[in-house]
Amino acid sequence: MRFRFPIVIIDEDFRSENASGFGIRALAKAIEGEGVEVMGVTSYGDLSTFAQQQSRASAFILSIDDEEFNSGVPEEELHVVRQLRSFVEEIRFRNADIPIFLYGETRTSSHIPNDVLKELHGFIHMFEDTPEFVARHIIRESKAYLDTLAPPFFRALTGYAADGSYSWHCPGHSGGVAFLKSPVGQMFHQFFGENLLRADVCNAVEELGQLLDHTGPVAASERNAARIFHADHLYFVTNGTSTSNKMVWHSVVSPGDIVVVDRNCHKSILHAIVMTGAIPVFLTPTRNHFGIIGPIPLEEFAPENIQKKIEAHPFARHVANKKPRILTITQSTYDGVLYNVETIKELLDGKIETLHFDEAWLPHAAFHDFYGDYHAIGEGRPRCKDSLVYSTQSTHKLLAGLSQASQILVQDCENEKFDRDIFNESYLMHSSTSPQYAIIASCDVAAAMMEPPGGTALVDESLMEALNFRRAMRKVDAEWGAGWWFKVWGPDELPAEGIGGRDDWMVKKGDRWHGFGPLVEGFNMLDPIKATVITPGLDMEGDFADWGIPAGIVNKYLAEHGVVVEKTGLYSFFIMFTIGITKGRWNSLVTALQQFKDDYDKNQPLWRILPKFITKHPTYERMGLKDLCDKLHGMYKEYDVARLTTEMYLSDIVPAMRPADAWAKMAHRQIERVPIDELEGRITASLVTPYPPGIPLLIPGERFNKTIVDYLKFTREFNKQLPGFETDVHGLVAEDVDGRIVYHIDCVKD
Ligand SMILES: *Cc1c(COP(=O)(O)O)cnc(C)c1O
Repeated sequence: MRFRFPIVIIDEDFRSENASGFGIRALAKAIEGEGVEVMGVTSYGDLSTFAQQQSRASAFILSIDDEEFNSGVPEEELHVVRQLRSFVEEIRFRNADIPIFLYGETRTSSHIPNDVLKELHGFIHMFEDTPEFVARHIIRESKAYLDTLAPPFFRALTGYAADGSYSWHCPGHSGGVAFLKSPVGQMFHQFFGENLLRADVCNAVEELGQLLDHTGPVAASERNAARIFHADHLYFVTNGTSTSNKMVWHSVVSPGDIVVVDRNCHKSILHAIVMTGAIPVFLTPTRNHFGIIGPIPLEEFAPENIQKKIEAHPFARHVANKKPRILTITQSTYDGVLYNVETIKELLDGKIETLHFDEAWLPHAAFHDFYGDYHAIGEGRPRCKDSLVYSTQSTHKLLAGLSQASQILVQDCENEKFDRDIFNESYLMHSSTSPQYAIIASCDVAAAMMEPPGGTALVDESLMEALNFRRAMRKVDAEWGAGWWFKVWGPDELPAEGIGGRDDWMVKKGDRWHGFGPLVEGFNMLDPIKATVITPGLDMEGDFADWGIPAGIVNKYLAEHGVVVEKTGLYSFFIMFTIGITKGRWNSLVTALQQFKDDYDKNQPLWRILPKFITKHPTYERMGLKDLCDKLHGMYKEYDVARLTTEMYLSDIVPAMRPADAWAKMAHRQIERVPIDELEGRITASLVTPYPPGIPLLIPGERFNKTIVDYLKFTREFNKQLPGFETDVHGLVAEDVDGRIVYHIDCVKD
């Protein structure tokens, strides 16, 4: 496989008609003569932007002009030296290995300070050797560098795909050939390209190793990733963290076990509860009236309080073994709140068998000091004595994995050995026997990308962009003065520049910005890369203002302007600064929000500014943007929705049967569809999850209380009056009964 990585030459004379220009062009020609591409530029331009070229180049040749050295100015202060040093620092911040050569007259090297010299791969003396000789030397170094880049599995896969051998095994498209036999198949082939299809191989290919039993190059890659992430064991998973979570659970939980779970966990954890037959005891996070989910207060983690919950639980209290098998915490809630993992480990080591942190949104934290102990597994972190620590991470959410790329990290404890064989039985239970090799390769490459210093630089950049976005939003706010603007949720004080320290992002007891009430200091922080934007209309106490801008409308507006946001709440939406973020992306969001404000203030007609939406919902055609906001806001205010939603999530929910037993009723059709008005007191057989916010409200086996039924009634009324802005409640089934829409939920038969 040939990869394109040009050698970059930076020389101000690259295009000049003088001796130095001829010299450098002769070298460039000699390099090209060896079949290697050259990119010649005459200046660094913006240094840090230019340094990004390190990801595309195989070497740098920096030309140094001797003349300045004779000016009598001390070397440290010379422009050439300062510029060279900054450039080399910028490169080495991201890349420890790419070769950098200096090119100049014989005397030049003696003028370059040592701290710069030691970062270089060599000094090329002009006119001392033939260009051909120098070219071969540089190419050798650049090839040696490129050879170190590919991690084990990706290396083996590219080798295999390029090898061109005929195979008889599946997949049936035979390296893409099947597609070429049909016109639509041709389209598919042209769209995805040959390599994806050549690399789509079957797990019968021995030289690539096996994901399912962790052998060969796959195993080498998992070990490499374990080293990079500082885990004792690491497994790639090609079916998402949804599956990683189930693997962890099935390897330690059996029917009737007590498990302790974050009430606002991802639904895959609820599926794991159903599948394992566990009895869940929930820890309840705080919430503020914006609908932002806060941390579970520290007291809830105290073993005696967990035991109290178990004693108060209708089934858990009858279980003989009261020691919970597993604790699962959403580490980085949807809105970016993090826990101090060492505090949780100290409290629960030996009290719960397995401590599991669902870090779907946090795979980046191990690579930056900023996060300290606020993620599960990292360099130099102490082990528990008796509890194993697991972290499950969606490589695809914040790092560079393909969709469904995920990984499981394990930290051993002192007194018990992690049993790979038992773990792998569970791993197999949830894996396809035909894993997707492109996803494995992306797990491999995503991990290799995070190797410091490159990975640290990437996280630093995401943090930096997130902070720049927050500062830009404040600047717009200040410029509007008394006019309204969108706020980014977070601490009142922003560091004036840079990313600040962890202390700037702690969720502190006395602070009002978070609205989570009095919390223990030092237990939680906010991850700045998740930015929740608050729209006007609702305050921290849950009181509605006279006018407001529901986030659902902003969301639709942004979508029609090509900006798609991650999650929308009532008066908030959030965006993420992944390692793929660019300035252009967040700048266009800021611009689109300014356009929104302008259109709102002018009450622009909807047919003009939301044409796609109006095509679908012509009833709003003659309304203006402000009119629509007023109408929606009026509905929310009338029903006091913010309070209703908060109360519903914090309401007392009573389990009536184990989730697995409720599922059994479903599987055996011992259920019936119950209309909303008759739901109070009934037991749900399905998950009930409102979107937004997408957090499960009731899980199978729990009873409907009045608060929840009131919420569903509101939803029904709201959906009738404002089509296009429906609150989608998964689990709620709409049926047409004689031309009337009736909403039902599947409940266990009485
Ligand atoms: C997204 C998510 C998952 C599931 O991850 P996938 O990779 O999409 O399967 C699990 N837990 C949390 C907290 C998530 O946000």
